[in-house]
Amino acid sequence: MLSRMQLFSTKLLNKAPVRHLSVTNAAVKSDTSSKSQEVFDREAKYGAHNYHPLPVALCKGKGVYVWDVEGKQYYDFLSAYSAVNQGHCHPAILKTLREQSEVLTLTSRAFYSSALGEYEEYITKMFGYDKVLPMNTGVEACETAVKLARKWAYSVKGVKENKAKVIFADGNFWGRTLAAISSSTDPTSYGGFGPFMPGFEIIPYNDINALEAKLVSDKNIAAFMCEPIQGEAGVVVPDPGYLTKVRELCDKHNVLWIADEVQTGLGRTGRMLAVDHENARPDIVTLGKALSGGVYPVSAVLADDEVMLSIKPGEHGSTYGGNPLAVKVAMTALDVLINDKLIENADKMGKLLRQELNKLPKEVVKVVRGKGLLNAIVINDKYDAWELCLRFRDNGLLAKPTHGDKIRFAPPLVITEEQTLDCTRIIAKTIEQL
Ligand code: PLP
Repeated sequence: MLSRMQLFSTKLLNKAPVRHLSVTNAAVKSDTSSKSQEVFDREAKYGAHNYHPLPVALCKGKGVYVWDVEGKQYYDFLSAYSAVNQGHCHPAILKTLREQSEVLTLTSRAFYSSALGEYEEYITKMFGYDKVLPMNTGVEACETAVKLARKWAYSVKGVKENKAKVIFADGNFWGRTLAAISSSTDPTSYGGFGPFMPGFEIIPYNDINALEAKLVSDKNIAAFMCEPIQGEAGVVVPDPGYLTKVRELCDKHNVLWIADEVQTGLGRTGRMLAVDHENARPDIVTLGKALSGGVYPVSAVLADDEVMLSIKPGEHGSTYGGNPLAVKVAMTALDVLINDKLIENADKMGKLLRQELNKLPKEVVKVVRGKGLLNAIVINDKYDAWELCLRFRDNGLLAKPTHGDKIRFAPPLVITEEQTLDCTRIIAKTIEQL
């Protein structure tokens, strides 16, 4: 098992240099109009270069579709990294946003607001946890979970001060803050940003023996945090039974299991939570992204009293966390998942999508994997995933490579059967044209 520091030195040195393309050079079609080019150029000139977007300049969205500044329509096969599960500009969510924005938007937690308690009761009953701690972004929710686990380790488990450890899985992704990158095994995330957070250790993902060995060897472990399916790593689905065994081992060793459901949660995988595929109940669940249906940053941490009440007034918080606008939007975003039957639809459309993707030539698409509408294809390294995504774009479908040879396919959960088949035709046609 490698510590964060060891990983830094070994992985960084062994890894090939990361491809850094400039914003404007990436095979933009020669007919790209000056309107799109203006958008690319302005961002390149005035914005930090911390992203490398696919060259398409969007200005409108509705349901599964987005439009660029030229008026060209595309299928959105990324859904803002699974934040737009409910589809772009869902009318019910926008109605709540409009209505609440004229009533009360922010009080801070210095005072009570009538909306917060309503939301807290709603979300805890929906997910079956005693309490919720509201934050804004996914990384804040995950960081909150790690803080909770450390606090619980000292105040309940009896770990000596400053000795608590949190275990993460190789390939994890939970954001970009210093704590998040301190557990990252991706040199592009952590390289050049040290020193890192102590007390974090890495084990292989989907390796129950490695987890057991770790838990047996160290009594200071507060928590094991993992994604039920690793999203950014390329939609890595663990073996059936893995999550159940994680639950059993964490129980046996009095260690908290934190499930990072920021990307996998809220219907994306065809269940409300991805852990529901195994009926495995984590001690802490983090949610974000689709908790607002893509209109506002809203995240949440769910846990029972034994864990949640280990943090006392003044020990954690956020000015915007739990604000009236956010919580009203979140309640509607959750309602939409249920009322519009999006979870069932994700399950059904996911099966159809994978069935069609599996018909693609294996010479190009080596692997198709995923659950519900969180899917990825792994392409033969003879082909360039970025180039393929540019061709998908030209044919009216937007997807983005993740980690080199993998392309994620994660449309909004409102996608219909007809649209799914239309998308698979676009994908097949694009691959034929290679
Ligand atoms: N956790 C997972 C599994 C994620 O995929 C992400 C973002 O992609 C995060 C946490 C961080 O969320 P945010 O970008 O909202 O901070």
